[in-house]
Amino acid sequence: MSSYLKREFGDRFVEDKYAAALYARDALISGAAARILGVVFPIDESEVVKLVKWAIETKTPLFPQGSATSLSGNAAATAPGVVVSFEKMTKLEIHPTDAIAIAQPGVRIEEMNAELSRYGLLFPVDPGSAKSATIGGAIANGAGGMRGVKYGTIRDWVLGLRVVTGRGDLLRLGCRTHKCRNGYDLVKLFIGSEGTLGLITEATVKLAPTPASVIAILAYYDDIETLVEDVAAVRTSGVWPLFAEFVDAPTAGLIGLEERNALFLGVDVVQGAEEWVLEKLSKIRGDIAQTARGFQNAMKLLEPRRKLFYGQIAAARRDGGILVIEDVAVPVSKLPTAVKKLKEAATRRGLPLLLGGHVGDGNLHPATWHRGDFDRVKKFLEDMAEIVLELGGTISAEHGVGLLKRELLAREVGEGVLRYMAEVKKLFDPHNVLNPGKVL
Ligand SMILES: Cc1cc2nc3c(=O)[nH]c(=O)nc-3n(C[C@H](O)[C@H](O)[C@H](O)COP(=O)(O)OP(=O)(O)OC[C@H]3O[C@@H](n4cnc5c(N)ncnc54)[C@H](O)[C@@H]3O)c2cc1C
Repeated sequence: MSSYLKREFGDRFVEDKYAAALYARDALISGAAARILGVVFPIDESEVVKLVKWAIETKTPLFPQGSATSLSGNAAATAPGVVVSFEKMTKLEIHPTDAIAIAQPGVRIEEMNAELSRYGLLFPVDPGSAKSATIGGAIANGAGGMRGVKYGTIRDWVLGLRVVTGRGDLLRLGCRTHKCRNGYDLVKLFIGSEGTLGLITEATVKLAPTPASVIAILAYYDDIETLVEDVAAVRTSGVWPLFAEFVDAPTAGLIGLEERNALFLGVDVVQGAEEWVLEKLSKIRGDIAQTARGFQNAMKLLEPRRKLFYGQIAAARRDGGILVIEDVAVPVSKLPTAVKKLKEAATRRGLPLLLGGHVGDGNLHPATWHRGDFDRVKKFLEDMAEIVLELGGTISAEHGVGLLKRELLAREVGEGVLRYMAEVKKLFDPHNVLNPGKVL
């Protein structure tokens, strides 16, 4: 079966089982990473079309991948198929006057922003993994990130897509203009579809000007409840943050900060309003340990927050455990209740709990771990779903469903909606060759 791939892709088909195994998993090694046939690295759209047609003919599952930084098994290979890595599709066009960029899926977000900075422009979606995460993977995951409180998620920044569906058809969706009303919004359907409906071969994204003036602080708190209450208070005082991120005390200690609950708060300020913003921020109840001015300095202040995941992994490993990281969101006003109830649920189940996340938009990443006894964690995840759904929240704000959250998805949307989703999957991928077993 692999003779076709060898002939068509030459060195860009890697069969070596050890090399291939590295591609069969995602950042959390979640899911049953399967022994795969190999990894293919297409360089253009026509190769992607050929690959999908071959997969249909040979009934071979394809597992698309950007940088495989997903945390719910979204990018893990779960059957003996082929991983399609978009690492080599990295062309990028920037159109500063139109405030758009046209990117192939393998372009990394941080690299794109380095290019954009020459024009004073920014692609504002900023997952903690932005150094590695690709534009294709971020779109397919519906990613959010550090600046979500001001700019929303990637859903708000994609204007157009080129995709190859599971039928082998190439579709051009959306527009390259900022306004676009050309029928049903299939672009949005593909955002967050986790590689189950089509393979993204190009994206047209909107850009924003880089904020001219930013003020940021790092403040420490003795309790998380006061920290989240302060974030809500800052918002109601008329200050709309650029970022509001936090890590809890145990994680802070593991990533080189003081072992106290740490809040990173940045505000994009209209020039002249700096003093007004500083006066508002001085009212928070935390101890302000650092202040930064200017976009680059604010981003530097925020840098330790990107290590949240590594702190959580370190805590789990130190305890001999396997980490499970979650991704719930509640309305900001409900954060104090959510934090309290999550802590109570973890204690009730006898599980450790670390907290951190994008507190400015109500998105928490509760983390716990197990030593092989996943059942207790499963029960805690069910408690967690019940808590956030009761508070008007969701079981996944940005990481997606992947393998880990399929049951929780059913709980959130219900069987009726799931049936419609299954019909959508059948329409775009009737042979079930694209990332089978994920989401649904
Ligand atoms: C340290 C760390 C911090 C993180 N922080 C955040 C955060 O702040 N916010 C956030 O949202 N996420 C975060 N994540 C999760 C993840 O990094 C993001 O979702 C990221 O955007 C995924 O990009 P990727 O290139 O690694 O995609 P991958 O993991 O490779 O793929 C993601 C999904 O897209 C599919 N896919 C990939 N490329 C294509 C394509 N071309 N066509 C169709 N489907 C495709 C895959 O099959 C998979 O389902 C974090 C992860 C880590 C490890």
